[in-house]
Amino acid sequence: MGACIFCEIIAGRAEASVVHDDDRVVAILDRNPATAGHVLVIPRVHMAGLADADDATGTAIWRAARLVSGALRASGLRCDGVRLSLADGEAAGQDVFHLHLHLVPRYPGDGVVVTADRKRRPREVLDQDAALIRQALRAAP
Ligand SMILES: [Zn+2]
Repeated sequence: MGACIFCEIIAGRAEASVVHDDDRVVAILDRNPATAGHVLVIPRVHMAGLADADDATGTAIWRAARLVSGALRASGLRCDGVRLSLADGEAAGQDVFHLHLHLVPRYPGDGVVVTADRKRRPREVLDQDAALIRQALRAAP
């Protein structure tokens, strides 16, 4: 595996604008922000996907997201709302394979586009989908 840019940042070998850190996570500004104040919350330990994060790491990520979201609203940067997103896997749009949660300040006219071709699924199909997911949850370690 080549050098991971987030591990390089956490090790202090690559520069970043840090907004928050604790013993488990670091929150930095995205170098190519969707809007000003776009933050990435990154676990200190390298892990690729969401399933790799233990509960303590997940809790730390969520705590940082909550704290930083509040700070973004109070910061003076334009922020009427915050959109959280996490791409888990290449098919989901993950580009850096070190788990990270995006916090994007949002406001009317910010130019951020989030699209999906959503189609209504009948209840019986939803129930079948739910049964598959419940079954997989029961089988999970
Ligand atoms: Zn890494």
